Amino acid sequence: MKKINSIGYAHKIIAVISFFLLLLPFLLHLIWLITNFTLLRIIIKISFSIGTIISILFLLLLKIELHQDKVINTQYQKNKNSRILLPSGFYECQTCGNRSLQAINKYCTHCGVNFKDFNEVNKDE
Ligand SMILES: [Zn+2]
Repeated sequence: MKKINSIGYAHKIIAVISFFLLLLPFLLHLIWLITNFTLLRIIIKISFSIGTIISILFLLLLKIELHQDKVINTQYQKNKNSRILLPSGFYECQTCGNRSLQAINKYCTHCGVNFKDFNEVNKDE
């Protein structure tokens, strides 16, 4: 499943929700107070329904995004302070992504973390 990242469009969804739940019903209610036109009451209810449905879908999207973030964070915490061997022969720091590490590096030269697998990697040598 693709990683959901709503930070770029969440404000637009909140604006649409605000329009259907607050602005449109408020304006239609003001018009209804003046005109007493009963069709406006139905349109207000439809607007509330649309706003509620969009809100529920948005909350569901945020719930899925939060779950994905927790899974990614769990994987990150598991691999923190470790390094992996690259095909080029260098190692990649799993904390910062530094890809210029050698087998003799006990710690990352970029972020400074001590590798918990240093003894495991070097026990064969
Ligand atoms: Zn690092």
